[in-house]
Amino acid sequence: CGIIGCVGMGAETLDTLVHGLSKLEYRGYDSAGVALASPADPTVEIVKKAGELDNLRTALADGGTPAGTVGIGHTRWSTHGPPTDGNAHPHTDAEGRVAVVHNGIIENYQALRDELTDEGVEFRSDTDTEVVPHLVSRNLEAGMDAESAFRDAVSRLDGSYALACVVAGVEAVFVAREDSPLVLGVGEDRTFLGSDVPAFREFTDQVVYLEDGEFARIDGDGFVVSTADGTVVEKQVHTVEWDP
Ligand code: GLU
Repeated sequence: CGIIGCVGMGAETLDTLVHGLSKLEYRGYDSAGVALASPADPTVEIVKKAGELDNLRTALADGGTPAGTVGIGHTRWSTHGPPTDGNAHPHTDAEGRVAVVHNGIIENYQALRDELTDEGVEFRSDTDTEVVPHLVSRNLEAGMDAESAFRDAVSRLDGSYALACVVAGVEAVFVAREDSPLVLGVGEDRTFLGSDVPAFREFTDQVVYLEDGEFARIDGDGFVVSTADGTVVEKQVHTVEWDP
């Protein structure tokens, strides 16, 4: 299982995501998917498929290639719900303006699911993950900006996670880490995230390792890492010595 994300790759965004996922195949997976957002589009475009990465490639080729300049991708190793197209990540809110990928397990998902169901949310997957986009969406409706909406949603979660979230119209990816690996890649006018460095090594050798409990916002200008209470963390940027 693995996650990838990028901002600043322009028309190469989709190829960068699929390439990144291919570099994470070694971690094992049963499904794969991508989400792309662009400033002008009120919804996030999603393509996801159970099975090999080639199934996703075929779906992308058949279905009309999604466009966007902010992207996230996922390879899933199922823990909650069988490996079906519907359970593959990314997961979205009802309106399709929030998309989330997740590695790990949300231990308190059933309580959150019950809470959201009581409010009228209809779930479309069996996953623990799907509570996250709905929580973010509810926060957006309450008037929070995208970053606050994501941070507040994550504060409700117990368990392990590497999470990445995109919101339609926002040129950034929001990430959080707890007991699941997550690393940032810092290039010229382009920024990446991944479960592991090979996901984006072709594009940069400058990396930042996130610690448990840290959040990050990445955009074309770089990254900001912070703790749960919003304190900005000065991170060391490491140079990877090995070739792509
Ligand atoms: N728990 C999530 C699911 O079952 C994520 C699994 C993973 O780490 O890929 O969909």
